[in-house]
Amino acid sequence: MAQQSFAPKPGSPVKLHNFDPEYHGDLNKKDARETEARLEARLAELQEMLYAQGKYSLLIVLQAMDAGGKDGTIKHVFDSVNPQGVRVTSFKAPTAEELSHDFLWRVHQHTPPKGYIGIFNRSHYEDVLVVRVNNLVPAEIWKERYDHINHFERLLVDSGTRILKFFLHISKDEQKERFEERLARPDKHWKFSTGDLPVREQWDEYMDAYEAVLTRCNTDYAPWHIVPSNKKWYRNFIISKTIVETLENMNLAYPDPEPGLDEVVIPD
Ligand code: ATP
Ligand code: MG
Repeated sequence: MAQQSFAPKPGSPVKLHNFDPEYHGDLNKKDARETEARLEARLAELQEMLYAQGKYSLLIVLQAMDAGGKDGTIKHVFDSVNPQGVRVTSFKAPTAEELSHDFLWRVHQHTPPKGYIGIFNRSHYEDVLVVRVNNLVPAEIWKERYDHINHFERLLVDSGTRILKFFLHISKDEQKERFEERLARPDKHWKFSTGDLPVREQWDEYMDAYEAVLTRCNTDYAPWHIVPSNKKWYRNFIISKTIVETLENMNLAYPDPEPGLDEVVIPD
C-alpha cells in the first residue's frame, strides 16, 4: 500500500485503512536506530535551549490503542533529555472531582509552562474516544467537544505552546502479539489487564472514533501525525525526527547574557 503523508492535510477526511501500520519506507532497523541516536542527542541540546530561553513550551500528545507503544515511546525518545525540563502526565479515568468540572479542567492544569516539554500519555482526546465509544456522556455533549478542543489548543498555541499530536497506529494483529507477549513474560504481566480485552472487542468503534478525531481536530496550528507503529524502531525514529524538526523551527536561542559579563572577575 502506498503510504500517505504522516501528517494529513488539515480538514481532509482521514480513513485509517489508507495508513499502513507496518510501513517503514526504505529504512532498516540498524540505520533507524543510528539516526535516532543522533536525533536524541540533538533533542537534548534543543530542550536545554528551550529551557534557557524560557519563552515557549512544547506539548506532545500521545494517543494509541492499548499496547500501542505510548510508554515505550516516552522511555526511548526522551531518554537523553534532562528530566528537569520534561513533565509527563498520564490521564486515567477521571475522579469524581474531575468529573464535576468541564472536561478540560484537569487537562489545562498540566499543560507545559514556558521552557518545558509536556508529554501527555493519553489526553483530552479520551473525552471523544473512550467516552464516545462507551456513551459515557450523551452524544450531544461529546459532539460539541471537537470544537472545544480546537479552541483550547488554539489558546495554548496563542500563548506560546507548540503542539504535536501523535497517533501510534498499530494493527489489531500486532496488538494481539503484544498482549500474548505480555502474558508469556512474567516481567510483563503487570502490563496486562483483562480489562483491555473488552476494549479490543470494540476495535472498529475505536477506529471510527479516531478517524473523527484525526479529521476534526487536525489543524494547522496543532497537527496530528499518524505514526506507523507496528515496528517500534520506526515509530521512535519518526517521532524523534518530528520533534527535532519542530524544535529546530521554533527560533530557539540562548538568552542574552547580563550586560558586562566580560568584565566580571571571580574573587579568590
Ligand atoms: P497501559 O497502556 O500501560 O496499560 P494505560 O494508559 O492504558 O497504560 P491504564 O491505567 O491501564 O493506563 O488505563 C487508563 C484508562 O483510563 C484507560 O482505559 C482510558 O480509556 C481511561 N481514561 C482516560 N481518560 C479518560 C476519560 N476522560 N474518561 C474515561 N476514561 C478515561
Ligand atoms: Mg491499560
